Amino acid sequence: MSDTPAKYDPQAIEERWQRVWDSERTWEVPNPGEPGFDASKPKSYVLEMLPYPSGEPHVGHLKNYAIGDAIAHFRRRRGFHVIHPMGYDAFGLPAENNAIRTGEHPRDATYKSIESFRSQFKRWGISIDWSREVSSADPSYYRWTQWLFNRFFEKGLAYRSEAPVQWCPVDATVLANEQVIDGRCERCGSLVEQRKLEQWFFKITDYADRLLADFEILESWPEHVVTMQRNWIGRSEGAEVVFTCGEMGIDFPVFTTRPDTLFGATFFVLAPEHPDLERLAAGSENEEAVRTYVAEAARKSTEDRAAEDREKTGVSLGRTVTNPVNGEEIPMLVADYVLMDYGTGAIMAVPAHDQRDFDFAKAFDLSIRQVVAPADGVEIDSDVAFVSHSDDETLVNSGAFDGMTSPEAKSAIVTMLAEEGRGKPAINYRLRDWLLSRQRYWGCPIPVVHCDACGIVPVPDDQLPIELPEVTDYAPKGKSPLAAVDDWVNTTCPSCAGPARRETDTMDTFVDSSWYFIRYLDSHNDEAPWDREAADHWMAVDQYIGGVEHAILHLMYARFFVKALADMGLIGVQEPFANLFTQGMITRNGAKMSKTKGNTVSPSEYVERYGADTLRTFICFTGPPARGGDWTDEGVEGVFRFLSRLWRLGREVAEGRDGAGDGDPEPLVRKAHWAIDKVTRDITTDFALHTAIAAVMELVNDAYRLKDELYGSPEGDAAVRFAAATAASLIFPFAPHLGSELYEAIEGTRVWEEPWPEADPAMLTSGTISLVVQVNGKRRDQIEVAADTPEDELKRLARESDAVARHLDGAEIVKEIVVPGRLVNLVVR
Ligand SMILES: [Zn+2]
Ligand SMILES: [Zn+2]
Repeated sequence: MSDTPAKYDPQAIEERWQRVWDSERTWEVPNPGEPGFDASKPKSYVLEMLPYPSGEPHVGHLKNYAIGDAIAHFRRRRGFHVIHPMGYDAFGLPAENNAIRTGEHPRDATYKSIESFRSQFKRWGISIDWSREVSSADPSYYRWTQWLFNRFFEKGLAYRSEAPVQWCPVDATVLANEQVIDGRCERCGSLVEQRKLEQWFFKITDYADRLLADFEILESWPEHVVTMQRNWIGRSEGAEVVFTCGEMGIDFPVFTTRPDTLFGATFFVLAPEHPDLERLAAGSENEEAVRTYVAEAARKSTEDRAAEDREKTGVSLGRTVTNPVNGEEIPMLVADYVLMDYGTGAIMAVPAHDQRDFDFAKAFDLSIRQVVAPADGVEIDSDVAFVSHSDDETLVNSGAFDGMTSPEAKSAIVTMLAEEGRGKPAINYRLRDWLLSRQRYWGCPIPVVHCDACGIVPVPDDQLPIELPEVTDYAPKGKSPLAAVDDWVNTTCPSCAGPARRETDTMDTFVDSSWYFIRYLDSHNDEAPWDREAADHWMAVDQYIGGVEHAILHLMYARFFVKALADMGLIGVQEPFANLFTQGMITRNGAKMSKTKGNTVSPSEYVERYGADTLRTFICFTGPPARGGDWTDEGVEGVFRFLSRLWRLGREVAEGRDGAGDGDPEPLVRKAHWAIDKVTRDITTDFALHTAIAAVMELVNDAYRLKDELYGSPEGDAAVRFAAATAASLIFPFAPHLGSELYEAIEGTRVWEEPWPEADPAMLTSGTISLVVQVNGKRRDQIEVAADTPEDELKRLARESDAVARHLDGAEIVKEIVVPGRLVNLVVR
């Protein structure tokens, strides 16, 4: 170390250690059966959600991977065999939209961006096993996405069907329900339209109950994520009740959670998208009015239509259905407040007990009949619907069911309907099947052909991958750009060898990211998507880390995939992610970062100025990682100063200093043990990385305060050395380069090869303290006691002090005030 730099130079330090890790492949781990595999160690799969490569990585990426890397380092040194891989969610619309604008092939833009992401991650010193890297847009990856699609198809879990779909007019593609936010396209914000199209679906609804039940396995998942998924699945118990239009001979099953209110159903409403609407309207006097209304409704957003307070519109169909409980003929209408994607797209309207039905009845002068009454007999207000629902309310105006409580009536009415074949108990889900086809270019081709003779035929596994053909025009025209590539589209049927056409839709990119975490485990396998032994060893992911914006889509789809794969015998776990951590967003000077506001931060610029260690430590330090954090330049500067101080301390210790040597080494040694204990507990219990870093800061402050009086004696030198080495060791998960540099300089070994330090329990109490004893607030004595002496014992010692006894002089003690660690005040009279 002759060429020791005089000042903290992160660029030099970081480059040096990155070269070591790269050339020694430090973070690579073998699979079972491979050389170097250590079966004696427990495994830990630490995974951050894979990035979508677009441009350069941003601050959100820095936070995600800095947190994940801290956990990976911590677990390695705690004796785990840690797998920590990386890959790219490389298909998707932004690259394709860029291609439409610039003509640049989405592949070129994407791989340029991957290059930038990879080099930034290396520059940040993230401890990744690069040997396992994957990209979902690579044929060696999507071959297996297609292979998995075939398995889902064989099991009837992938199917094609005509369905009303949400269509984004700007992106010219269908959207999954999950990609429609408040009636608008999640990507471009345009108002979404309804269309009817043949589409591919995954049958996720078959798994609704298991997706709900298995939250039990996921005990440590954040409560809010579980709640969001529960609401999305939206399970409700009730009954399916059949209303019949006798005139047309059509049955209309409806789902209701309130079969106890069936006698109050005074009209019947269909959604404008209801498939029977056209038939019902044809030939009726309102035929034209219905058509006009349906066309208008198609232009409105779902959010608008579902709003409670908006003016109700609708058209009478001029037909009736029979209410199965009382044989009453009630009018049918079409109204856009009824949505096709809940239940069956038809409702029995109970205006007395549903506010929207009530408003509609008032607007159209339809009858309103109260059928449940509050238990206390209070008259209900006839200006609003009576919707407060309780188990002790009783039925009125309901024939033989009058006087029953609501729960009794629910089951009695459903039993009666079931006997007549007019109804049955039913469970309804808000969850819909996963619409996976997209009319876009830059995605994984769906591996089927359409044959006039055989219908839909999957491409045999040994002919995969079906590679994306080259196109020159990426612009969406309502059909996939693939449809224009004639020599690709026209093929032969694998089944009858006759002419056939390839499917031209591509897959939703959420398909790619529903299984990437298994591919990492065996990423070069070209015989199978993964080796079962490797998957069984590493799965499930022990710690998954990512943004809360993926709480529903990605996490639910991946859970569904893993359950389906388990059912096919391809994997041995039911849940992909045993533990989940969702990090909060980083703001800048209190404001949300956005490109339009021009207040984004480019991590690479800051890394050049301060080094990666400062940035990584700062981003983990600014606020609890689960919540947000605020990016300020002062904050970054402050962390840089702290690391500089730590660097100087480490250099001093490594080189040796002279001093008075008359200080007591024990407080500093105790402080170091306190820091070990605190950092360990903070990281293990609740990802409190910010307070863990604060503890290292405290240790470094104490070392600075005490070192000059400690240097010069063997015990004093050892204490400062221990404090500095401990600080280097504890900061390593956050600032791995600096941690490695200082630890090697002080201890001569590589910190990542050292076990995580353990606090000595005996050093966690703070020894003895001087206890001041007062009588009526006046200092009368000072006694040495053990720091952890209980309060009662402190009072006793205070009372029994000779100096105090003299001042008590037989007076009665009326109060004893204890300030722990400092004093006891005896109040006498
Ligand atoms: Zn859009
Ligand atoms: Zn055929």
